[in-house]
Amino acid sequence: MSRSYLGDDCLQYLKQRQSFLWLNPNYQNRSSAPLKPDESRLYEASERLLRLAPLLKTLFSELESSGGIIESTLTHIKALNQAIDLPPGDLFLKNDHQLPVAGSIKARGGIYEVLCFAERLALENGIIENIDDDYSKLADSHARELFSRYRIVVGSTGNLGLSIGLISSALGFSVTVHMSVDAKEWKKQRLRENGVNVVEHANEYSNAVAAGREQASRDPFAYFIDDENSPLLFMGYAVAALRLKNQLDEAGRKVDEQHPLFVYLPAGVGGAPGGITFGLKAIFGSNAHCFWAEPVESPCCLMGLATAASNRLPAVSQLQLTNRTDADGLAVGCASHWVCNAIRDGVSGVYTATDGELYQKLKQLHDLAQTDVEPSAAISLLGPKLLSSPTGVRYCDEHHLSEYMSNATHIAWLTGGALVPDDEYSRYLSLAEKYTK
Ligand SMILES: *Cc1c(COP(=O)(O)O)cnc(C)c1O
Repeated sequence: MSRSYLGDDCLQYLKQRQSFLWLNPNYQNRSSAPLKPDESRLYEASERLLRLAPLLKTLFSELESSGGIIESTLTHIKALNQAIDLPPGDLFLKNDHQLPVAGSIKARGGIYEVLCFAERLALENGIIENIDDDYSKLADSHARELFSRYRIVVGSTGNLGLSIGLISSALGFSVTVHMSVDAKEWKKQRLRENGVNVVEHANEYSNAVAAGREQASRDPFAYFIDDENSPLLFMGYAVAALRLKNQLDEAGRKVDEQHPLFVYLPAGVGGAPGGITFGLKAIFGSNAHCFWAEPVESPCCLMGLATAASNRLPAVSQLQLTNRTDADGLAVGCASHWVCNAIRDGVSGVYTATDGELYQKLKQLHDLAQTDVEPSAAISLLGPKLLSSPTGVRYCDEHHLSEYMSNATHIAWLTGGALVPDDEYSRYLSLAEKYTK
């Protein structure tokens, strides 16, 4: 790992698969981001989702009550706040594991990018005249006939494929999902039941993405959703920040210099936590503190954020890490270069955790909050206590937060789980029992 900002201590922790908190030395160093995305894109994405809401409402009956808006709740669970060792402040759960349609955070980015493509085709082919036209026309037979000529292609560890597959087939697109070895059997089955073409790969995520990219490049009617390189996915995720701002207002939670906001985001390739961090920094600036979370075997974003902007990003295999984890949504060996460059100065730090630690949190969520999530999501609950560690205390001191910690809002971002079959979830719980013994 040449020209990286990782110190020797940090390399030791990484190589020994020890969970730890890494503080990002580039945080707030404005000059380190050569490709800063334009903030106006965030508001554009939010407007587009409003335009498309009537269409989504037509396509998915579960969106009836929200008028076609895909959003999750923000909850404060007293039992959880009392039972787990928190730093001062209040812990909230952001329940993206319950996002309608896809049951994971991928309902934000994945669905947004497919909708962008559908809108573009509809405008180019006269299905709608302009953006003020009636968008429910995108669900009629003319539109379906048009969409059926195109193929959406994507590579995934599971959840992105699930979200892209479900929205694409609902709109009438042909769709192929290239699944990495980590993808769970039930996710593939669910897609096949919805008419999605699933291609299984015996190797890791980056190979599945490469296979999809290659297939799409040979087909003029293919549209490839590039999880490693997509400003559209990123902005779809970023809209979550605008919605969260409203939810915090409704809950009476202030965010300012004396009321810091800490957000803990599970990271795979970096798109979802990157987009949300971007959105939160646009809204709350230096009062939002975003920490990302990764399994000890897959700390690719930590390594990517620690690498100089112009350098090729390292893969976790360079540290002899295996990228094997039960947190399948986070099983990514090399982060998105684009995302790391876009948000390198916005991420406060990254922490790692063992599968055992995240299973303990999965069980706590079940016992204390009646909240059932997949292992990837449970990692977010490990964030708050790290702020009481020596490294966390140093961060708070450096940013003049220590005296305001009792006013802090902590948000554990629960990123997936609603679609997990019951027997699969029972298996997680019994694994959790084993780890808590
Ligand atoms: C995809 C995913 C993430 C992380 O998103 P990236 O864009 O890959 O960083 C986190 N949790 C779950 C459950 C996911 O499916």
